[in-house]
Amino acid sequence: MTKDEIESAADHSYDNRYEIEQSKMCGCYYCMRTFPASLITYRDYTDFGKTARCPFCEIDAVIGDASGVPINEEVLTEIYDVEFSIVTSSDNYDALNFFDDDEQQ
Ligand SMILES: [Zn+2]
Repeated sequence: MTKDEIESAADHSYDNRYEIEQSKMCGCYYCMRTFPASLITYRDYTDFGKTARCPFCEIDAVIGDASGVPINEEVLTEIYDVEFSIVTSSDNYDALNFFDDDEQQ
């Protein structure tokens, strides 16, 4: 999959209640489990009931097969790598060092 395809696949993990309810199988690209959509109950929805959370890891990284995204471990792994590969940039590092030693005089 290209990066664009992965990002549009990941979009299906948000505001996806209708899609999940139309799906037979779901996959979570955080814990890589695939499971029947029926395992997701109304209590698993977050974001005002619009977004499914994984019944196993409780992360909102669930995609249903009604989205057209192939639900298998290979695809889930590709999405994980893009969505959860958080690189600590030097900008973030500077923000953590906001307090300047000079102000302590
Ligand atoms: Zn999960």
